[in-house]
Amino acid sequence: MKSLALRLLPALLALAATALAQPVVDAPAAGLVQRAIAAGRNDPEDARRLAEDALGLLAARPDADLEVRALLVLCDYWSERKLEVARELLGRASALLSLARRGGLRAGVYSCEGDLFESAGDNAKAMDAYGRAVSSAEAAGDDEMLANALYQRGWLRGLQGDYALGLIDLRRSVTLYEKAMMAEHARTAVNGVATIYNRMGDYAQAQHFYAQALKAQLAAGTQREAVVTLYNLGRTRENLNDWDGARGDYLNALEISRRIDYARGAAYALRGLAGVHNARGEWGEALERLAEAKKLTADLPDARLQAQLALLRGVALRGLKRPAESLTSLNAALAAFRAAEALAEQAATHAALADTLADLGDWRAAFEQQRLLKAATDRLHARQLDQRFTTLKVEFDTAAREKENALLMREKAATEDALAQQKRVGALQVIAIALAAVLVAVLGLLAWRQRQTSHRMRALALTDELTGLPNRRAVLARLDELLQSEHACAVLIVDLDHFKVINDRHGHLVGDDVLRAVAGVLTETVRDPMYVGRMGGEEFLLLLPDATVEAARQVAERVRAAIVGLDASRWPSDCALTASIGVTIARPRLDRVSDALRRADQALYSAKAAGRNRVHENALTVAA
Ligand code: GH3
Ligand code: MG
Ligand code: MG
Repeated sequence: MKSLALRLLPALLALAATALAQPVVDAPAAGLVQRAIAAGRNDPEDARRLAEDALGLLAARPDADLEVRALLVLCDYWSERKLEVARELLGRASALLSLARRGGLRAGVYSCEGDLFESAGDNAKAMDAYGRAVSSAEAAGDDEMLANALYQRGWLRGLQGDYALGLIDLRRSVTLYEKAMMAEHARTAVNGVATIYNRMGDYAQAQHFYAQALKAQLAAGTQREAVVTLYNLGRTRENLNDWDGARGDYLNALEISRRIDYARGAAYALRGLAGVHNARGEWGEALERLAEAKKLTADLPDARLQAQLALLRGVALRGLKRPAESLTSLNAALAAFRAAEALAEQAATHAALADTLADLGDWRAAFEQQRLLKAATDRLHARQLDQRFTTLKVEFDTAAREKENALLMREKAATEDALAQQKRVGALQVIAIALAAVLVAVLGLLAWRQRQTSHRMRALALTDELTGLPNRRAVLARLDELLQSEHACAVLIVDLDHFKVINDRHGHLVGDDVLRAVAGVLTETVRDPMYVGRMGGEEFLLLLPDATVEAARQVAERVRAAIVGLDASRWPSDCALTASIGVTIARPRLDRVSDALRRADQALYSAKAAGRNRVHENALTVAA
């Protein structure tokens, strides 16, 4: 038990050390920051409160990452309201960056910096800051921050007439937000895409995108986003001369903005309504709406909105036959649009200025405004055409690349299929080879067994069962072989004398035993190249290749003596054994087997007749 605890101790200590090394994440503060980021898209006041509460908690338990994120939410909020406050927050966020773990936060700081420049009307510096934000987020591999930066840069590019590049940024941003499952943000970016279509003069397409986004935003309850979309939808309907539709959108936007206390949204809605009044010649109502908007935007740092209000005011004042005031208002608008490089609005202002100057009788200046209007419109059209062409090209390139990708993917899949197929074939080949090897082995074994068996069968077929000597067939085949060759050969038939008596007196078993004993004696006596076999019964045949009659007689005598000398002690006493032997010489190519056997038999009979237990030979001359 104790040893187990000792063994576990180092692991426990390591665990404790890891736990202590972990940064203490302040869960309540983290939750507040998350909610603030989400609310930023919906309810700005809520977002600000949540971010401030989070900062309050973080003051007691600092966490650089959470603080920077909270500060960025506040920076976003104040960049639309009070630039000094936003700048101060930006400075604090910047100072905390070196302590933050998340590298992508630097991109967030650059984005906010761009926001401030944009609100101040310095789009060149804003563009520079967004560019830095994009590079920084890309370097940090921070998709969320990259999506933010791309959204802001794409939006500004669209505003500046760089529609194609703007679309590329916004579409990348949509994709990244979708990948990060940030649906609301993705919808906002889709809105940005729609705005660019609107600017390119593709109003129907823009209207389609806006209407789609609006439905989703209202369903998701993201009201601030819905206000922006409604305003954009209204602008698009104006372009399509759908004034009633535009008015409905603006009224809707105004109502929601008031409900969520979103002054900026309300000001934009009022600007839209004033535009509709102007288009209908309702100059007084237009001025009223504009005055209301002006009040709301008094402390909003939105140079572009101010310029748009001034433009509409100029148009309304002219309608009310107050050209001098109209001129002032329009000149202010023109200066702001020029600073923001907003070409479309510049053109609209030139047109209004030309009318007002004509009313004032300043024909020369009016003509100059007409010229500027034409130049701006030409540039706008050229740019629109240019951009449309570029956009089409970008779309074409993208489509081509996608097609190419699809092709590559298909090719890759095909290659993988082929590889897999090859692998399968390879595996099958291995299996086939293995099976073939097994088959060969089995067949080999079977063949070997077969050969063994046939050897055994052949041996069995040529062996006498009782004595183990070659049987009649074997010994006669051997004799035949010898007769086919050059060699003469002595043939001896050995026949036991009165064997029947042993059988009759003592039974077959004793008889068999005696036969085996005789076979043993013969085997011992007969040496290679001599050959012995059992002809059947108590008869044996001996073959002596190249033996003379004399030599054969000597062997026969040795055999006879050996049989007589057999140790008969294990059999009954009257089992004394003798044998008679007939000898002849078989002549190659002259004798057949039967000739040789016949002569040997005759010699044997002669031995039997002469009293048994002796060797007789058959004189060749008789047979020849
Ligand atoms: P002879 O001296 O004239 O040769 O007399 P014999 O009794 O030996 O000859 P015979 O041909 O009358 O008898 C041979 C006997 O051998 C007959 C048979 O019972 C016996 N015999 C034949 N084959 C076998 C065998 O395989 N086993 C035993 N136990 N007896 C056998
Ligand atoms: Mg016999
Ligand atoms: Mg016999």
